[in-house]
Amino acid sequence: MDTAKDELTPDHDAIRHQLLAERREILGSVESRHDEVDEGPSGVSDGSGETEHLAIAEVKELTMHLDRMAEETLEEIDAALKRLDDGTYGICVDCSGPIASERLEALPTAARCLQCQSRHV
Ligand SMILES: [Zn+2]
Repeated sequence: MDTAKDELTPDHDAIRHQLLAERREILGSVESRHDEVDEGPSGVSDGSGETEHLAIAEVKELTMHLDRMAEETLEEIDAALKRLDDGTYGICVDCSGPIASERLEALPTAARCLQCQSRHV
């Protein structure tokens, strides 16, 4: 029943599922956000045209900002998935040292160990 496989691959499948789920969630939220912007504010056209335009501009700006953040997060997720495929997941891209599992649990997309990351900020 119990094989040694689990020891060799510590939760990589779980991490992959987590990353893929997060990816789907982000893509879904980006899509729904764009649907809202395309439709515009519904049912509030009672003549106050100027404030309405302002609101739309603000929403668009916010949407662009959120899209950029989503894009960056997606890139991080894709990079983490690639490291899972390559077998380099959990290894710091800078010093090739192991990334602490607590850090990966808190931040599954972490590409650097805590020491290297602190030098990058
Ligand atoms: Zn490092």
